[in-house]
Amino acid sequence: MSKVRRQANRLAAPQWGWQDAAACRGEDIGLFFGPDGERQPEREIRERKAKAICARCAVRTECLEYAVSRPEKYGVWGGLNEDERASERRRRMRRANAA
Ligand code: SF4
Repeated sequence: MSKVRRQANRLAAPQWGWQDAAACRGEDIGLFFGPDGERQPEREIRERKAKAICARCAVRTECLEYAVSRPEKYGVWGGLNEDERASERRRRMRRANAA
């Protein structure tokens, strides 16, 4: 088995069914993905609104697990922005290495 195929086998195909129950369905996608060149104050306001939607989402855990396990570099997923997800990935890596 090739190295690429072995890596593909480790990363299971995403299951998208949870998105049917997403609280962000029908919401302005611009709340979750900011424009290029967005200034920090506007970003904070936008992300606060997006995270408020995530906070009442029934599939927040599934969404966050998806986004943390994949290279989702942009946007608010599961109530976390890019930087927060990167921190979560590092935290999980440290915990896995310590085990
Ligand atoms: S957690 Fe947030 S981004 Fe994820 S599906 Fe729910 S509302 Fe959408």
